[in-house]
Amino acid sequence: MDLREIEFEKLSPFEIKDLLINIASRKSQKMMLNAGRGNPNFLALIPRYGFSQLGLFALSEAERHFGYMEGIGGQSDLEGIEARFELFVRSHWDEKGARFLNAAVSYVKDHLGFPADRFLHEMVQGYLGCDYPSPVRMLKIGEKIVARYLLKEMGAGHDLIGETQLFAVEGGTAAMSYLFESLKANFILNEGDKIAIAVPIFSPYLEIPKLDTYRLVEVEIAADKDKGYQIPAGELEKLLDPEIKAFFLVNPGNPTAVKLSAEVLENLKKIVEKRKDLLIITDDVYATFVDNFKSVYSVLPHNTILVYSFSKYFGATGWRLGVIAMHEDNIVDKKIQSLREEQQKELESRYSSVTMNPRELKFIDRLVADSRNVALRHTAGLSTPQQVQMVLFALYALMDEEGKYKRAVKRILRRRYKALYRGLGLEQPTDENNSYYYTLIDAEAIGEKLYGREFAEWFTEKIPTGEFLTRLAEEAQVVLLPGKGFDVKHPSARVSLANLREVDYLKIGQTVRKILDEYYEEFKNR
Ligand SMILES: *Cc1c(COP(=O)(O)O)cnc(C)c1O
Repeated sequence: MDLREIEFEKLSPFEIKDLLINIASRKSQKMMLNAGRGNPNFLALIPRYGFSQLGLFALSEAERHFGYMEGIGGQSDLEGIEARFELFVRSHWDEKGARFLNAAVSYVKDHLGFPADRFLHEMVQGYLGCDYPSPVRMLKIGEKIVARYLLKEMGAGHDLIGETQLFAVEGGTAAMSYLFESLKANFILNEGDKIAIAVPIFSPYLEIPKLDTYRLVEVEIAADKDKGYQIPAGELEKLLDPEIKAFFLVNPGNPTAVKLSAEVLENLKKIVEKRKDLLIITDDVYATFVDNFKSVYSVLPHNTILVYSFSKYFGATGWRLGVIAMHEDNIVDKKIQSLREEQQKELESRYSSVTMNPRELKFIDRLVADSRNVALRHTAGLSTPQQVQMVLFALYALMDEEGKYKRAVKRILRRRYKALYRGLGLEQPTDENNSYYYTLIDAEAIGEKLYGREFAEWFTEKIPTGEFLTRLAEEAQVVLLPGKGFDVKHPSARVSLANLREVDYLKIGQTVRKILDEYYEEFKNR
């Protein structure tokens, strides 16, 4: 199949990636440089070793029961668990993960102020996975720990920690699926409603609202490439339209990689002063990769639903770890309270099996119930071993007060970015808002820098992005994703800086340069 013939606008960029991989791997699988994957190739070791040690301790707890029958254990006891843990740590002191786990328990006890025995019991039982998740929304102490981690990374004030509720879910993408379902079921988003979407954006977020299940009308709030992909005030003003029910954004962006600037946050705040009913849904999975991040949730907590995933920062896509966070006092609950009486009745009946008082059921708890078709709510919730690893990731980041892990991860990405531009033979643009997790290669802008405006115009007019990407795949076995699929308005390619070695980015830069040089020859000889 020739990519030059396919309709780039229609196919998801992730499908196009698969086609490009096919082309690029024809010569040799090994030589292919696939910079289409957002999946990181780095991962956090220490909290994983911590998980292994916790596992050994948990099994020793289980072994205390039924020891006379081989292969069968029992549930762990709260009583005496702290003393048994101390003995365990002492006898495992030189093994990887033991010191971290020991420090984590001290941190939870001394710094966060939770009883060590209750924390240990929650984690041990969670590891063993011998009970249904309870509470279904999230394990009790675990929720408080993850909330602390989350709000620290979101640049939020201390008050919000106590006022924020979490629902632990199977990654950020599950969070979005659950949200769309429950917003629909609760008449917050109805067929034909307008929703605003900050573009360019992770392409599925453009595709979901259009599904026949939702039939929402999309209004694009477009970032300006010439302003470092920030959203101009004029675009934000579209949100003043009262028909727009919700505003979806990814912050920092994918594929733009930049966080909303302080100015844009300030402008958004002013809009919401006039649109107090506007619901904002923000996916902040890349928060940890930028400096001085501030989430929309930290600025507008009552209007915002926050989605976060552990996938990228901890290199944990296979774990499926994410959370939905909401303020206790939020506009979704208010909107539900003010629905028409017949809708209220319908919802009362929908949730009557879950609680005696369904009208009072908070939206976040409706999400939990809806995630298992309401009737199966008692078996809802993220598996407890997953929650345990999530808590250990969160503790690891909280305990790293000097930010060693964060600096190391940022350094990896920034070095790759520099290598890419070294390969292109251009000075790399820098931006304090950038996460450097992805970068958009804007062929027109780069062409202009290298060979002047006239070439750039010729290139943009004559060379379809598909052809450029196909040549990269065919001749150099380099796979990049088309920016178009993410609703980037100009010809561009997304390079993920997460998934290859530093030297590979140098090579990708050199390859893009070589192909542009060849186009320039074509231009001169035209
Ligand atoms: C990678 C990514 C995620 C992560 O999703 P998971 O389901 O947690 O793996 C979420 N949102 C965006 C925009 C992403 O790019």
